[in-house]
Amino acid sequence: MKIKDVLKNTAERLKNADIDTAKLDASLLLCNFLKKDRLYTIINAEEDVELNDTFESLVTRRESHEPMQYILGKAEFYGIEFKVNKNVLIPRPDTEVLVEKVIDFIGNNQCSFVDIGTGSGCIPVSILVNCPHARGYAIDISPDAIEVAKDNAKVNSVDEKIIFINMDILESFPDIEVDCIVSNPPYIEEDVIPGLMEDVRDYEPYIALSGGKDGLVFYRRIAENAHTILKKGGLIAFEVGHNQAKAVEEVLVNNGFSQIEITKDLSGIERVVSGIR
Ligand code: GLN
Repeated sequence: MKIKDVLKNTAERLKNADIDTAKLDASLLLCNFLKKDRLYTIINAEEDVELNDTFESLVTRRESHEPMQYILGKAEFYGIEFKVNKNVLIPRPDTEVLVEKVIDFIGNNQCSFVDIGTGSGCIPVSILVNCPHARGYAIDISPDAIEVAKDNAKVNSVDEKIIFINMDILESFPDIEVDCIVSNPPYIEEDVIPGLMEDVRDYEPYIALSGGKDGLVFYRRIAENAHTILKKGGLIAFEVGHNQAKAVEEVLVNNGFSQIEITKDLSGIERVVSGIR
């Protein structure tokens, strides 16, 4: 079949499966199958290609609303390509605001930080790539997530500046001392999860989503224990859900933090809450 016809048929199938980005996804799936870039498929639209089960399986996965990032095994974040799989949350553009906050704080200084609930490692890797003298710890409850994060640190040549800790921070807390705590913890209220769009609900790891009954479990746990690891004058910075900024500000104030700042994301939603110990 000609490339242009494959694109057309595949886009049609995805559209019928209610995929909003049908055309783009069809093109990315074909490129992945052919191991060519999009320009190639445009210039060679008349070329005949032979499809097989591998391509069919890519399309079927997308028809079932599996996120493109899991199908392709990668996601872009902060201008960096990250490996992802079903064991980690897909990095979101919202989180770039959080990374920016920490990069501004650390700059060129010899600071240490810890990322709690690191997932793909998108947060610490982006910080280390941009702050040449920083060193970091990255904690996650999931050994499978830590494997992904380690890969991402290695590919981006920051693996020697980062120590991974496999730990459930609801059970214990690390014995470290840092200048900055950063976290984009699971923050969705338990009861809301069944109603999420199926791309998220059926494919992204539940433990990366659920923040307990009120969504605030991790903020409280981290803020209550922060003084045991954070130096005086150190920064704590959290990503929060769309209606959580005020509640998280209160958690920080109740735990002795000052200079609270709330930063909006590109859609104008209050996304990052930070404070100083
Ligand atoms: N820190 C990772 C991210 O920002 C994982 C977050 C999570 O699993 N809740 O993508």
